[in-house]
Amino acid sequence: MSRKTSKGTGSKLPTPPGQARPAAVRTAPGPAEPPREARDSKPPEAEHGGAKFHLGLVEMGRIGEFAVRVVAANIQAMIGIPVDILPSMEIPPDAFQHHRQQYDAGLVIKHLKEMVDVQQGRILGLVTADLCSPILTYVYGEAEVGGTVAVVSTFRLSQNEDGSPTTKERYYERLAKVALHEVAHTFVLYHCDDPRCLMRFSPKVATLDQIVLAFCDRCEFMLRENVFQLYRRPPEPRR
Ligand SMILES: [Zn+2]
Ligand SMILES: [Zn+2]
Repeated sequence: MSRKTSKGTGSKLPTPPGQARPAAVRTAPGPAEPPREARDSKPPEAEHGGAKFHLGLVEMGRIGEFAVRVVAANIQAMIGIPVDILPSMEIPPDAFQHHRQQYDAGLVIKHLKEMVDVQQGRILGLVTADLCSPILTYVYGEAEVGGTVAVVSTFRLSQNEDGSPTTKERYYERLAKVALHEVAHTFVLYHCDDPRCLMRFSPKVATLDQIVLAFCDRCEFMLRENVFQLYRRPPEPRR
């Protein structure tokens, strides 16, 4: 049962995004690099009658092993679910929008849903191509709220607003932030007004850089609840 609301991180067309209200701010917990414990220890297995609840990471385009590991480690550490790195795939050619020279994020999600055995878990597609949606000029990522599939693009994360290249560290941090944001949408988290929270809507990299690598207390609480509920709930029948 997935709701159809799509929640992207990207630039809204044609109106700029709503003003974020100042709110209580948390300090960042640490860097976006893979924490040692996330690499060295196995995350807890959640099982429903033998079916494991995991998130599968699918590389679509050459993201690079380190970047994929950064995303995997951050999801394991911050969302608290095991991550499997799946074999890479081609981005579906039919998602390409010739008039925009970009890929439609919704169509990539649709394709991943059809192609990948999602079971009770989640799939996150990591693409190098530029993504858009019918109402957004571009998106850094997209997911269905309460759905099973999310997609993230690295295309716009390695440059700053003025077109200058950003540092590797900043690039990995942005990638981790967008991935955590989109995966959290699949756990029924909506956009947040806290200007430092990972669930803030980010229309540009400058906004993304203001966010810390943490959920605000409210989003953190909801995420824990929803992940916990999903682990405890019996799996829904396959359709
Ligand atoms: Zn969003
Ligand atoms: Zn929040």
